[in-house]
Amino acid sequence: MPENILIAIAWPYANAEIHVGNITGSHLPGDIVARYHRLKGNNVLMVSGTDSHGTPVTLAADKEGKPVEEVYKKFHNGFLELFKGWGITYDLFTTTHTENHFKVSQAMFLALKENGFLFTQKSMQWYSPSSKRFLPDRYVEGTCYICGFENARSDQCDNCGNVLEPEKLINPRSKEGGALELRETEHFYLDLSKLEPDVRKFLQERADHMRAPVLGESLGKIEAEGLKPRSITRDLDWGVPIPVEGWTEAGKLIYVWFEAVIGYLSAPIEWSKLWDSNDEWRKWWVNPEAKQFHFIGKDNIFFHTSMWPAELMGAGTEFLRIFAGESKPLTLPYDVPANQFMNLEGQKISGSRNWAVWGREAITRYDPDALRYYLTVNMPELKDSDWDWADFLARNNNELVATWGNLVNRVLSFAYKHWEGHVPDVDVNALRAIDQQLLETIENGFDTVGAELEAVRLRSALGEAMKLATAVNQYIDQTSPWSEVKKDKAEAAKTIYTALRAIDSLKVLFAPFLPFTSEKLNQYLGHDIPLFGEQYIEEVEDALGVHTVLRYRPSTDSEPRWKHSQLEPNQELRQPGPLFKKLEESVIEEERTRLGK
Ligand SMILES: [Zn+2]
Repeated sequence: MPENILIAIAWPYANAEIHVGNITGSHLPGDIVARYHRLKGNNVLMVSGTDSHGTPVTLAADKEGKPVEEVYKKFHNGFLELFKGWGITYDLFTTTHTENHFKVSQAMFLALKENGFLFTQKSMQWYSPSSKRFLPDRYVEGTCYICGFENARSDQCDNCGNVLEPEKLINPRSKEGGALELRETEHFYLDLSKLEPDVRKFLQERADHMRAPVLGESLGKIEAEGLKPRSITRDLDWGVPIPVEGWTEAGKLIYVWFEAVIGYLSAPIEWSKLWDSNDEWRKWWVNPEAKQFHFIGKDNIFFHTSMWPAELMGAGTEFLRIFAGESKPLTLPYDVPANQFMNLEGQKISGSRNWAVWGREAITRYDPDALRYYLTVNMPELKDSDWDWADFLARNNNELVATWGNLVNRVLSFAYKHWEGHVPDVDVNALRAIDQQLLETIENGFDTVGAELEAVRLRSALGEAMKLATAVNQYIDQTSPWSEVKKDKAEAAKTIYTALRAIDSLKVLFAPFLPFTSEKLNQYLGHDIPLFGEQYIEEVEDALGVHTVLRYRPSTDSEPRWKHSQLEPNQELRQPGPLFKKLEESVIEEERTRLGK
C-alpha cells in the first residue's frame, strides 16, 4: 500500500533573496525526501509558498518606495525561477496572498474561536499621530529595557534575544521618523496556555523519531516558560482580513505568524483545485495514516513543533465542519526534521553584507547537481556547518567526479565503443561469482540507503550510496576489462554488463540527491521512461488578481522505481557524455573575492 507523504517546507519571506543556507536548511532536504518517496511509489505532495504578508515585506516596499504587491511579486517570481533551476520539485509553490489562503486562514480562525481558544484583550501599542496609524513592531526601535542595547526592535531584542513588551521600550523612535505615542488597542489572542497539555503530549508521542535538538528545544522552552497567550491580530493594512464583523473595518488584520503556517493546509487545497479534484488534499490532511514532514531551519522550530500543532489541535473537528460541512479532525505533523545553520567561510551568512552564496546566481556558474551534492554532504543536520570554497572544489573533484562521474563515463564509453552502442549481450545466468556478489551488494543498497532516507539522515544516505560507487570501482580494478577485452571479449562482456547494471541501480540510489545527472544517465543507458516528472510555472487567477505558481507534473509511469536494475542484455545505448565537470583551482580565489562586496 502506498503511503501518503506530505512534504511541507518553510515559507520564505518576500523581502530577501534565497541563499545556499536557506536551500540546505529546508528546500533541498525536503526535495530529496520527496523524490525518494516518489521513486518508491508513495503518494507525495510537496508544498510551500511565499510568505507575502508581514512587516519585513511592507518595510522593504516602504524602503523601495513601491507598492507592497509589486515587491512581494518581484521576490516571489525570483523564488520560482530558483526552485526550477535547482530542481526543487514543489507540487505547488504558491503564495499567502491568494483568495484560497484567505478563506482557509479565516476558517481556522473561526474554528479556534468557536472552540473557545480565542479571547480579546486591550493593550498599549505605539501610534504615529502624523501617519494616523499604529505602527507594526518592526517599525519602532529603541533601547532594550533588559540589556540596554540601543537598537532593539520594539517586540524583540536581537542582542539579548528576549521578547519585549513594546510599551516598556526606552527612547522609542519610529523608523519612518515623526513622533510616537502609546495608545490603547484591542486584539484577538490565541490561548496557548489552554493547549499546553496537548502540545506536550504531541511532542512526547513523537520522541522516538524527532531529532534530539528539535525535541530538546521544544520541550525545554515549554518547561522553562510555558505556553502563553499570543496575539493573532494586528493593526495593519496588508494581510488577511479578520472574519469577525467590525474588526477589519477598524484597520486590523490577522497577524502574519498565525496565518503563514496555515499555508501548509491551504496550499494542498489550492493544489487540489488546480487538478480539478477538490478532495485530493484529504489524502494528506484528513487521514490519520498520512505522514507529514516539516522541513525548516532551527530559527523556526518552536512555531512548527508547538504553535502550529496547537492551532491544529485547537481547531479540532471544527475546521472541517466550517470549511466542508463534515466534522473530522485534521492530521497532525509526523516529524519536524529541522536543520541547524550553514555558515560561509567561517562567518555567519549575511545578506546585507553580501556575505552569501545566492541561489539564483550560483546556478549560472555551477551545475545544480554539483551544488546539491555539496549542500547534502555538508548539510547542517545536527550542528552548524560551513560552506568553504576550497572544500566545495575538493568534494566536487575528488568525490563526485572521481568516484562516481569517472566510473560512469569510463564504463559507458567503453561499452559504447566495443559493443557497437549496446549493452553486452550476455547470458545473465552465466555470470561469475564475483559479478553476482557485486550485484547483490548494490541490491542491498536499496534497503540501506532507503532506511537512511526514511529516517531523514540525508548525509548518511548519500554516504552509503557513494560507498557503493566505490565498490563498483574496486570491482572494475579487480576484473580490469580494459585489458581483458583484447584477450577474451566474452569475459570482458560479463564485467561490463555487470558494471552497467550496477550503474543502472546506482542511478536510482543517487537520483533523490542528483536528479539532473541521474536523468541524463537514464537516457544514456537506453531507457525511455524518465525517472521524474516536469516542473512548470503557471499563472492562476482569483478574486485577488493573478499570481504565479510553480507546479510539478508527475512522470506518467506510476511503477515504483526504487528497486535494483534488471538491465536487458543487448539493450541499445545512447551516445554517452560526461555527467560532471572538474573545477579549476582558480575558482576558489574568484569566489572568495566576491564575498562581502
Ligand atoms: Zn536586550
